[in-house]
Amino acid sequence: MSRPQRITLLGATGSIGLSTLDVISRHPSRYSVFALTACSNVQGMLALAQKFQPEVIVMSLPAAAAELRLALAAQQLNIPVEEGEAALASVAAANEVDVVMAAIVGAAGLLPTLAAVKAGKRVLLANKEALVMSGQIFMDAAKEHHAQVLPVDSEHNAIFQALPDQVQQQAGQVALEHYGIHKILLTGSGGPFLSLPLTELAKQTPAAACAHPNWSMGQKISVDSATMLNKGLEYIEARWLFNCRPEQIEVVIHPQSVIHSMVQYLDGSVIAQLGAPDMRTPIAHVLSYPNRIESGVAPLDFMQVGQLSFAAPEAERFPCLQLAMDACWEGQAATTALNAANEVAVARFLAGIIPFTGIAEVCAEVLSRTGAVIGPVTSLEAVLACDQAAREQAQSVIRQRW
Ligand code: NAD
Ligand code: MG
Repeated sequence: MSRPQRITLLGATGSIGLSTLDVISRHPSRYSVFALTACSNVQGMLALAQKFQPEVIVMSLPAAAAELRLALAAQQLNIPVEEGEAALASVAAANEVDVVMAAIVGAAGLLPTLAAVKAGKRVLLANKEALVMSGQIFMDAAKEHHAQVLPVDSEHNAIFQALPDQVQQQAGQVALEHYGIHKILLTGSGGPFLSLPLTELAKQTPAAACAHPNWSMGQKISVDSATMLNKGLEYIEARWLFNCRPEQIEVVIHPQSVIHSMVQYLDGSVIAQLGAPDMRTPIAHVLSYPNRIESGVAPLDFMQVGQLSFAAPEAERFPCLQLAMDACWEGQAATTALNAANEVAVARFLAGIIPFTGIAEVCAEVLSRTGAVIGPVTSLEAVLACDQAAREQAQSVIRQRW
């Protein structure tokens, strides 16, 4: 067999990062870890450093980097620790690297993920916010630099698996209707508040919002799943990854999270990918594509699953979903601003400052102000400026209302 694939893992201490390392550790002859990165979790990174012995570590917070250097020295581990944003981009683009897992949460992942794309790496994309923020810029960079972007998000990974080979090879660059595809059916569980009385929504705590019925994930995406803004971000993500027109994507509520998404063809066929709700399946798929490797996920037991059910999303329960779907077709300023406003609102909700229903209010208010203030967003500089302006607006809305 050829030499192991060398991997940089952006966001190694997170939920996706740890699941990725779990899959990698099952295949030591196939994959080796070049770099591990995190923000501030020193103890988490120390444990990973001992186990995986990366060639370099990046902690984006300098204080965390300093603390980790001392901790590594105390254990006689001689691994260089770099710090700051530029170091994240540099380990993502390093010559030694074949594959980059982009698993930082939120806008912080944009620059390092784009660095991997511009270096022509195989980019395993979990960090959907990066694509939502930069859409066309991201896809153009992937095409120009021959980066293969493979979706980790379970829905997009399912869609990818259900597409014809020719579309997989040029995903995002071809017209779906030319391959007999009618539409993409993006499934979502509806999160923990799917059947809660609507009058109870405003009272929901961060702990309740993070208690997802099927998936165990980081805090931010768990809250996004409860508002269904996660499905909205995924709608935008699907538009870019698969080059969809508005009538080519539909959101379907599927509470069991067994079908991870589907592709409906012109002849009436629907091809779906199914599996247990465990991110190690899509991670193993993108790591080994076009081959298959063992992921550690137990086979799906249909007798235990019993029933699959489907419904349309309720507009009143999930206002964030419609906001995102509208923003998707409005233009880059809208989706960049929505993503930024949501990040600010979710952080304030988790801090106990705004109610659960405040997240949608902040997003709606920032979006209504965006069009008038922000011009076309066609460069990375414009994306970053739009992101910053929307964050400031979200903070000001929150100060005024709460
Ligand atoms: P998480 O909160 O568990 O982990 C986030 C990781 O990013 C950590 O390693 C953290 O150190 C790092 N990080 C956070 N802020 C940073 C910053 N400012 N600079 C540098 N690094 C930073 O998040 P997660 O649930 O693993 O999600 C990661 C990404 O994957 C998100 O974009 C999420 O939407 C996407 N995703 C996650 C899942 C899931 O099951 N968890 C599923 C689909 C997609
Ligand atoms: Mg998903």
